[in-house]
Amino acid sequence: MSIRRLPPELINRIAAGEVVERPASALKELVENSLDAGAAQVAVRLYAGGLELIEVSDDGSGMNPDEMRLALERHATSKLPSDAIDQVTSFGFRGEALPSIASVSRLTLESRVRGTDGWRIEIDHGASNGEGPAALPPGTRIRVEGLFDKVPARRKFLRSPRSEYAACLDAVKRLAMARSDVGFTLEHDGRRILTLQQADAPTRVAELLSHELDRHGVGIDCTRDGLRLTGVISLPTFNRGMADQQFLFVNSRPVKDRLLVGALRAAYRDLIARDRHPIAALFLDVPLEEVDVNVHPAKTEVRFRDPVAIRGLIIGGLRHALDEESQRSAAREQAAAPVMWTSSASYIPEPSLGLAVSTLREEQRVFEPVTFVPAARAEPAVEPVPSYPLGVARGQVAATYIVAEAEDGLVIVDQHAAHERLVLERMRAAREGGSVARQALLIPEVVELDEPDCDRLEGSATELGDMGLDIERFGPTSMLVRAVPAALGKTDAAGLLADLASEIAELGGPLSLRDKLDLVAATIACHGSVRAGRVLSVAEMNALLREMEVTPRSGQCNHGRPTWVKLGHAEIEKLFGRK
Ligand code: ADP
Ligand code: MG
Repeated sequence: MSIRRLPPELINRIAAGEVVERPASALKELVENSLDAGAAQVAVRLYAGGLELIEVSDDGSGMNPDEMRLALERHATSKLPSDAIDQVTSFGFRGEALPSIASVSRLTLESRVRGTDGWRIEIDHGASNGEGPAALPPGTRIRVEGLFDKVPARRKFLRSPRSEYAACLDAVKRLAMARSDVGFTLEHDGRRILTLQQADAPTRVAELLSHELDRHGVGIDCTRDGLRLTGVISLPTFNRGMADQQFLFVNSRPVKDRLLVGALRAAYRDLIARDRHPIAALFLDVPLEEVDVNVHPAKTEVRFRDPVAIRGLIIGGLRHALDEESQRSAAREQAAAPVMWTSSASYIPEPSLGLAVSTLREEQRVFEPVTFVPAARAEPAVEPVPSYPLGVARGQVAATYIVAEAEDGLVIVDQHAAHERLVLERMRAAREGGSVARQALLIPEVVELDEPDCDRLEGSATELGDMGLDIERFGPTSMLVRAVPAALGKTDAAGLLADLASEIAELGGPLSLRDKLDLVAATIACHGSVRAGRVLSVAEMNALLREMEVTPRSGQCNHGRPTWVKLGHAEIEKLFGRK
């Protein structure tokens, strides 16, 4: 076997396999170059999703002809003047993009430094195709035509122009969010798609994310130990079936980093169903020495020196913001719309009306005709319903929903969803107070599971113990349950352990203790809550309503759906055509 040095053209083709996967990745590299060149305005034109043409023009520094020739050579970059790669703040630094793209397409590079004449170089699949003067404004214009036309292996993996276009649009959006101080235009098949003026970051993000976030978003701004996190995220109730609206940036660099995505997910844990995804634009700023950007050819992943701190900042920051907002929005909705889908509620009932009083009143009024108080009427009702935000229970429907009458309308509660939430919040509060009541089993229960599941549970035994669930290993494929959280009551230990094991398996990754506890609590809560189908007494229903009013986040079940809805009087009147 003889070893040979590969010719530069082949090296470029190999690099192209990593750097330019599809039109969107070539486009990303070109726009990054424009931004690195100090452009104030970047114009992108595409045909057929970039398969036919990608053109990027900028008003940046431009290059003189010598620089242009060098730029097309492999490992030629102007962005590492010293060898301090860990201090790099430009998007590029590897000197690979241009030669790689030029090796798998027909590329025309035109550039002009202010005060000089423009120049043009053409490359056809890595080979020079001539050069000469060019007329263009100061800056650079690059055209890439027939990308991968002559690389059948690669061509096979390209998708329809439509989906390649979608990926290109996504790439432009990400860079446009990263650099709101730069103006962008995007044209596809001759149609103008985006026109973005220079703006501040919140304005740019608002332009590019769903406008619904005005009402359903929460602003983020937190700092910890020199790390800063800013941006906007959606309320848990405003979610999507795909994780395609999540824009993450580290030091202004768009990334698709697994750690960050995982932290975002973890922040919404138990607020949102597993198969739903929040919308987010999050900007993480960290000292340069805390992050290594040179771990991925397309530079979309980074490595943090202290991943646990980053994860903690994100989860803590987002949780805090969501909690605060949920309190605020509950108050807002209380005051406004007739039909109230609430994201979360944390009402404090009036202290003057204790539980005993309300029970009495409600018992007296059960068979009385309902007195409506039209919202528009000014004088107070003769006999007002006690002013509990969630009202007093009037009955149960389908052994699943509690129907209650509040001062301002009719409240319907999903008893299982609501109770599950209450159990979870109760367990959390107990945990934070440091005392989780447990109930020892008279006869410890043996639960059979497969070995990896047993290993997982054993590995989390301490955290589970903190939650009131005492288990220990009992042979290779069984666990012994000695005590369960008192909040649970009677429970199916085997089912609970199986669920916990799969939860732990699914989460994996660097999990903080707090996250683990949260997931355990959520799983336990689901097992311990009132099932749909259980008949409740009026007293039980009222107790549930009162507890919901004082429990944070009780307006939403552990999967992000509302636990209750309110039909306001005006809304009811509308239903009957009275208005
Ligand atoms: P990198 O960006 O990693 O340096 P590239 O292959 O993308 O590598 O680009 C090589 C060099 O070409 C850059 O370092 C830069 O000096 C020059 N260059 C590329 N695009 C532009 C542009 N739009 N404006 C000015 N200079 C550019
Ligand atoms: Mg580059």
